[in-house]
Amino acid sequence: MKKTRNIIRSKKTSTKTKAATRAKNPARLSMREKKIREIKKKLLSQKKILLGEAMAALNELPEQTVFPDLGDQASAEINRNFMLRLRGRESKLLKKIEDALERMNQGIFGICDKCGQEIDIRRLEARPVTTMCIECKTLQEEEEKLTEK
Ligand SMILES: [Zn+2]
Repeated sequence: MKKTRNIIRSKKTSTKTKAATRAKNPARLSMREKKIREIKKKLLSQKKILLGEAMAALNELPEQTVFPDLGDQASAEINRNFMLRLRGRESKLLKKIEDALERMNQGIFGICDKCGQEIDIRRLEARPVTTMCIECKTLQEEEEKLTEK
């Protein structure tokens, strides 16, 4: 009989002290961090709602069947287009929410993409998915206006 040597690596999943430990102590959170946590909660529930709506819209999507009446056909078409459009908008927003949550996980949420400065917390509260501070955003919009024409 062959003697098998089992090397069972009982490698314990390292209980690494997460970098987030610091953030887990609510007493040490700054006002900004607290607000970001609130924004995160909002984003998570918004994501849940959006996903629910997207699923509902998907299920309600009428089949492309032949309707006896042309009027019905037309309204079904309109209905279908509307829902597809809605889903397009929803999925865009969902993507933005996912990105924002991802930035939170990475600890870079609320930092302007362009200049690296902290984005004003009031701006973040009003528009959590933003990736730019108001100055950079305004600048970008002005640039876009110029290149559009
Ligand atoms: Zn900026």
